[in-house]
Amino acid sequence: MSRTREIIHKRHGMESKETLRKLVHEFPDNPAGMDYFYALFERAYCDGEPLHEGRPVVGTLCVQAPDELVRACGGVPVRLCNGAYALDQVGAEHLPARSCPLVRATLGAFESRAVAPMDQLSLVINPTTCDQKKKAAEHIASLGYEVYSLEFPPVKHSEQAREYWRSSVRRFAHSLPRYTGRKLTRRRLRRALHEVDRAQAEYRRLQRLRQARPTPLFGKDAFLVTGAYFFDDLGRWTEALRALNDELEQRVADGFAAAQSRAPRILFTGSPPIFPNLKLPMLIEQSGAIVVADEVCSANRMLHDRVAVDEWFLYDMVDAIADRYLKPCTCPIFDTSEDRRRRLLELARSHHVDGVVYQAFAGCQVYEMEHRAIAQALQAEQLPVMYIETDYSPDDMGQLSTRVEAFVESLKAKRRRRTA
Ligand code: SF4
Ligand code: SF4
Repeated sequence: MSRTREIIHKRHGMESKETLRKLVHEFPDNPAGMDYFYALFERAYCDGEPLHEGRPVVGTLCVQAPDELVRACGGVPVRLCNGAYALDQVGAEHLPARSCPLVRATLGAFESRAVAPMDQLSLVINPTTCDQKKKAAEHIASLGYEVYSLEFPPVKHSEQAREYWRSSVRRFAHSLPRYTGRKLTRRRLRRALHEVDRAQAEYRRLQRLRQARPTPLFGKDAFLVTGAYFFDDLGRWTEALRALNDELEQRVADGFAAAQSRAPRILFTGSPPIFPNLKLPMLIEQSGAIVVADEVCSANRMLHDRVAVDEWFLYDMVDAIADRYLKPCTCPIFDTSEDRRRRLLELARSHHVDGVVYQAFAGCQVYEMEHRAIAQALQAEQLPVMYIETDYSPDDMGQLSTRVEAFVESLKAKRRRRTA
């Protein structure tokens, strides 16, 4: 390994360690069920342990790549979106200054191979969603990776868009066995659907538990659980979440509060927090609020919706999978933000939210541009919104914490006025 690469790996390991240390040691009463997830991140991110040796690992660049098809063909889907500042700096050498840190860090991971699966990838799937990802994928291919562009439509309500996407997914289903070495059959696809469905059911149970007042789990842990879904073995992840949920259910029955019982309840939305960049969720919770729900593609949006199959024939299942990845998707790359507004309002009601934090990564135009429409819809429902433009650098921590603390204080004051 070259000296430069060694330094990058070391920095990446240290950054991951530091985030884990804060998540584990700077918060009280972590549930025992979180130990599995803390240890998993330690192995994968700090020790660089390869987790799926002997199996074809298929990297995905966005949540719009259908996991179920990869699993049915014997592959392990691993989402490669990256949250490390050390890797953002590597990617920044190859991309424009005003590009999204998530895209830069993801490219940096390919360039430096600092994350274990980079040396194991049989294929990288690139759904053609946001422009920056699309263009970065060309760069990734030039590094010698096999990249498959999965054509994604820019609108989702028209019949043409739906048909276009269905045919992209069918073509993809045909091509996939070439990379994984295993044929797609009806039986295998049905089993994969069943396994993902079990995992999602456990995830929805977690979401219901977070609705409790007081809520039994810090948002920083919920983000870690969903971040583990990016790369963990599906069966183990589901079992670990089941154990955590059982424990949380007991906490709810006991009236246990993860944060102070008067802590303002926050809905988090916008650009996705991805380990180790959990700085904003952690700041919110260190300032005395608690993140009880989220609408981001590294959590709720990734795992909420089910595949609805009418007929259990192979290509009916493939079409049903395609529909699941298009219709409910609330990514801002689409022409309108209507569905996202509706989803946010639903979450705000179901999770008894006091305020919303909207994170936009500097350079991510779609989240930046959509902010105004989203904020108006939320404010019309008396929900205060804090908009934060940030990136992966630690430099804005002081300024961010002042703003977050002021926002949390204003929510507390509002609540006091209501109950006076
Ligand atoms: S923000 Fe949208 S385009 Fe980017 S990774 Fe998430 S779902 Fe994909
Ligand atoms: S945060 Fe924005 S620019 Fe970055 S991957 Fe997501 S949609 Fe693309």
